[in-house]
Amino acid sequence: MAPTTYAIAIGSNRYGRHGPPARTVAAAVAALPGVIAVAPTIASAPLGPSLRRFANTVVLVRVTDDPPALLRRLKAIERRFGRRSGRAWGARILDLDIVLWSGGHWQQRTLTVPHRAFRERRFVLAPLAVIAGDWRDAQTGRRVRHLAHLVDRPRARP
Ligand code: ADP
Ligand code: MG
Repeated sequence: MAPTTYAIAIGSNRYGRHGPPARTVAAAVAALPGVIAVAPTIASAPLGPSLRRFANTVVLVRVTDDPPALLRRLKAIERRFGRRSGRAWGARILDLDIVLWSGGHWQQRTLTVPHRAFRERRFVLAPLAVIAGDWRDAQTGRRVRHLAHLVDRPRARP
């Protein structure tokens, strides 16, 4: 496939072999293929039943993988970092999600792009807006900058 661009959200809230979450996130950035932009890493409050704080960032990668091929690579990196499968929420050494793809939509049972939840996640939209504010969400047609603005003002939503 010709190269396309993806936005990948990176999150960690658990000590792993690279150290604390912020170090894990930095090591994950270094492990990803085709990185062309890296947002600042932010610390965010715990999500769901977990009590641990997260470190989060977003990167842009340019690769020849189609979405399922890239997801396989992301899952292999998660495993290498020591993540165990089966726990969607809570303590996790590393989470790598495909947020946006320059090819637009991808829909299959185990993979939805754009990512289903990213429009509600400030910890994805804030870093993403720093490196890709003009990128349009293929689902809503809204720019990332606009989505980041909306998530900061939930009551202003239509
Ligand atoms: P989450 O990231 O939602 O907290 P997981 O990382 O455990 O939870 O992912 C659960 C499953 O979500 C993955 O095994 C993957 O098949 C599926 N999935 C669907 N869409 C995406 C996407 N855009 N990026 C990453 N995983 C996705
Ligand atoms: Mg995930």
